[in-house]
Amino acid sequence: MNEAVRVRFAPSNTGHLHMGGARTALFNWFFARHTGGTAILRVEDTDQERSTEAYYDAILEAFDWLGLDWDEGPYRQTERMEMYAGAARRMLEAGTAYRCTCTPDEVEEMRQKARAEGKTPKYDGRCRDRYDADPTEPFCLRLRTPDEGETVVNDLLAGSVTFQNDQLDDMVIVRTNGAPTYNFCVAVDDIDMRISHVIRGNDHLSNTPKQILVYNALGEAPPRFAHISMILGSDKKRLSKRHGATSVLEFREQGYLPDAFINYLVRLGWSFGDQEIFTREEIIRNFSIDNLNLSAAVFNPKKLLWTNQEHIMSGEAGGLLALLEERLRARDLDPDMLTREARLGVVEELRTRAKTLEELADGATFFFRQGVEFDEKAVKKFLKPEVAGPLARAREAIAGVEPFSPEGVKTAFERVLEAEGMKLGKLAQPVRVAITGGTVSPGIFETLCLLGKERSLERIDKALSLINQP
Ligand code: GLU
Repeated sequence: MNEAVRVRFAPSNTGHLHMGGARTALFNWFFARHTGGTAILRVEDTDQERSTEAYYDAILEAFDWLGLDWDEGPYRQTERMEMYAGAARRMLEAGTAYRCTCTPDEVEEMRQKARAEGKTPKYDGRCRDRYDADPTEPFCLRLRTPDEGETVVNDLLAGSVTFQNDQLDDMVIVRTNGAPTYNFCVAVDDIDMRISHVIRGNDHLSNTPKQILVYNALGEAPPRFAHISMILGSDKKRLSKRHGATSVLEFREQGYLPDAFINYLVRLGWSFGDQEIFTREEIIRNFSIDNLNLSAAVFNPKKLLWTNQEHIMSGEAGGLLALLEERLRARDLDPDMLTREARLGVVEELRTRAKTLEELADGATFFFRQGVEFDEKAVKKFLKPEVAGPLARAREAIAGVEPFSPEGVKTAFERVLEAEGMKLGKLAQPVRVAITGGTVSPGIFETLCLLGKERSLERIDKALSLINQP
C-alpha cells in the first residue's frame, strides 16, 4: 500500500461535536498520523435550516481542546458549490445523470404504485431518455442507476456488503432549486480531496453504495471504506442525551484531560494487546485499522473516569499545571500567588487524590485564596478554645523554621507536641483548618511549605483571633 493516505473527518455543524463524532475523528486522525498521511477537516454545512455558525465554532473549539490539528481545512461545503455544479455538468454530459421534470406528486405516485406491487418504492426512471421535455419546465438532476448488477462495498471492517442495483433509486443529485444533495456532495468532495480511506460510523453504510455510484458515474475509483460501530449507552441503545453528557465540550467542563478523553475514546473500539493507558505518541505509533473491532462500543463513564485519574497521576506536571491554572483563573483565583515551583508542588501533592481537573482545582483552591474561607463545621470541631494555646505555640515554632522545609516544620511540630504532650493529629487538624479552612489537604508539613511561611502565619493568626473572639 504505497498510495498516500488521505483521510477526512466530515462533521455537520448541526450540533455539538459529540463523543461518537470525536471518536470517528480520532480514528481518522491517528490513522493519518501513524501512516504519515494527511488529515482533512471538512464541515458539511449545507443544511441551511439546521447548520449554525455557533456550532461551527464549537466544533473547532472542541478540536482545539483535544489538540487535534488538521493538515487541510476546515473546508466548508457551502464554499464549494461551483465544484458540485461542475461535477453535475460532467455527469449530465456523460449521460450518467439526467434531467427529471417530474413533479413531487408524480414521484409520490410512482412510489405508492411500487409499494402496492410489493416492489421497492423508487423513481421509475421515466425521464431517463426523454428528449421532449419543455426546457422551461423546472427540473432536478438524477443519477442514472444501473438496472442490473450489484454495488459492493468492500469494507475493511465489515467485509463485503452487497447491494442490488435494482434496489437503488435514481437518486436526486441536484434539486430543482439547484441545491446539490448530501450523498452527491460527499462523493464529489471525497473525489476532489483524493480521499484514500473513509473511516466513519456504520450509520453511513447504507449511503455508501449511493456514493460509489457517483464515483462510478464520474469515472473514479472509490476509496477504501471502514465503517465503525456506533457508541451505545449502558442500555445498549445508541448514545444520546438521555445518557448524560455526550458533547465533547461538556467533558472539558467536567475536568477531563484531553489526553485521557482521547485515550478512552480510542480504546473504545481499538486495542493494542491489553494495554489500557496510552500517551498520544503511543497511539500514533501503534494505531492500525486492523486493530479496530467490529462489535458495538458501550460507553462506560466509570472507565472514562478511571482513565482520567490514571492520566492525572502519570501526566507531565507542567501540562497538568497549565490546565489547573486555567481552572483557577476561571474561579477568579490568581495562580501567581504561589511561585511556579510551589504550584508544581501543589500538583504533585494533589494529583494522587484527584479524578478530574475539577477535583484538582477544588483541592488547590485554598492555596490561591487571599484569605481563608472557613468551613463552619470544621471550625466548630477543631478550633476550640482549648487549642488556642497549642496553636499559638505551633505558630511560634513554625515562625522559627529556617529554611522553611517540610522536614524543618516536622521537627518544629515534634517539639511542640512533646511540650504539650499531644498527639500529631490533635495539633495537625487545627493547623489544617486554620490554613485551609477545612479538614482535607495533603500532608500538613508539605501544605504549610507550599503555602509559604508568611501566608501560613497570617492564616494561623486569623484562626487564633477567631478562637479568642469573646
Ligand atoms: N456529515 C456526516 C455526519 O456528520 C459525515 C459524513 C461522512 O463521514 O461521510 O454524520
